[in-house]
Amino acid sequence: MKYVIIGNGVAGVTAAETIRRFDESGDISIISDETFLPYCRPMISNLLEGSVPEEKLSIRSKDFYDKNRISPVLGVRASSIDTGSRVVVTEDGKKHPYDRLLLACGADPKGLDAKGSELENIFFMRNIAHVKKMISALPQIKNALVLGGGLVGFKAAYSLLKRGVSVTMLIRSGYPLSMQVDETAGRMIQTVLQDHGLTVRTGVSAEAFEGNGRVQKAVLSDGDRIDCDMAVIGKGVFPAHGFVPRDSINTDAGILVDRHMKTSSDCVYAAGDVAESFDLSRQRRWVNAIWPEAVSQGRVAGMNMAGHPISYRGSLSRNVIRIFDTDVMSAGRVSKREVDDSCRTAEAFDPGRKTYRKLVFDGDILVGFVMVNRVEQGGVLTSLVQSRMPVDIPEQYLLDPNFNVSRLMRR
Ligand SMILES: Cc1cc2nc3c(=O)[nH]c(=O)nc-3n(C[C@H](O)[C@H](O)[C@H](O)COP(=O)(O)OP(=O)(O)OC[C@H]3O[C@@H](n4cnc5c(N)ncnc54)[C@H](O)[C@@H]3O)c2cc1C
Repeated sequence: MKYVIIGNGVAGVTAAETIRRFDESGDISIISDETFLPYCRPMISNLLEGSVPEEKLSIRSKDFYDKNRISPVLGVRASSIDTGSRVVVTEDGKKHPYDRLLLACGADPKGLDAKGSELENIFFMRNIAHVKKMISALPQIKNALVLGGGLVGFKAAYSLLKRGVSVTMLIRSGYPLSMQVDETAGRMIQTVLQDHGLTVRTGVSAEAFEGNGRVQKAVLSDGDRIDCDMAVIGKGVFPAHGFVPRDSINTDAGILVDRHMKTSSDCVYAAGDVAESFDLSRQRRWVNAIWPEAVSQGRVAGMNMAGHPISYRGSLSRNVIRIFDTDVMSAGRVSKREVDDSCRTAEAFDPGRKTYRKLVFDGDILVGFVMVNRVEQGGVLTSLVQSRMPVDIPEQYLLDPNFNVSRLMRR
């Protein structure tokens, strides 16, 4: 059996290890345009911040490929797939035949349609190479502009603040992490960041950049012009499936997969940030571009590819974040655009103590929660969202950070 995996991120390497566990003799190749050992992508912001050295980002040892008898094909992109003859072609013209193919090619950062965005010192932050470029520019940087208040923009701003750079964040949505948290939590996060020197400007975007080779100024949509010698584009990501043949592999936002992580094409699977799977809290297809789901999906895809049928239970968006001394945890549906009148909410907000807990219910099912500084029982609440077990105790009870789990079981 010949297995080909595109992408050496966590979804790809987890799938490769899983396949090897179930198939001792099959040929496994991993094709990836990155040449680094598999690494912890969420921690590239720690590299930028200076708190973690590059060698500590690896999630597998140097002998990973040898030990698992995997052939790495690194530093080259897969450019096309012929699902009829079952061949992947890389940009160097080489052909890689497969019996089972896994698309684990992650996501690409969304670009910016602004004049001057080709100037030096305007960066994306998706991989180690991006961050290394940012780090080498840092000695010349006084003022950074971060475009977007999502997870990547937020992490970039936080890391640059810690490096002593003066940071301005432009957020269209009104507060940071608007996909991950609700407005109350978002404002609390914004206050923490502002207390540490961040400038936040809402409802504006950058329309153009100016500079002499390197960026020096940004022209904002309200006509304002601000100094910046670095800009980080954190406007979100899109699944990296541009090279995938649409006539045989169905896509929407991501590559559509069934419960076995199989695509619409025989013998082709997808996992991780590129895959669009069933979402437990939303009860429909969704791309949950987060690390723990990439791991689970890689494992499920690997088992199915190796002939051991297993179902993926579905994905759930979730995040645990520490911002200076503030802890934030959220899962499922909490953002303003996803909590409508059909949902019931319960919340406990103590502005004095700076604590917040909010639960979102659809009928008697917990479909999301967000917590700031009182994140106790977050694991139990996450399991409740995942299991969709009806909650038949007063919702106020679950707002108590010390609630007794056994009361949930007495039904
Ligand atoms: C700055 C940052 C912070 C993050 N923070 C968090 C966090 O706090 N919590 C969390 O859960 N998640 C976080 N994430 C998201 C998390 O990193 C991803 O969900 C996870 O890495 C996805 O793994 P993957 O294997 O699907 O894809 P990736 O890790 O993106 O790996 C895909 C690989 O395939 C390669 N590739 C793509 N196309 C091709 C091609 N055509 N040919 C060859 N190779 C190709 C890519 O270059 C890449 O190396 C963060 C991401 C970033 C960038």
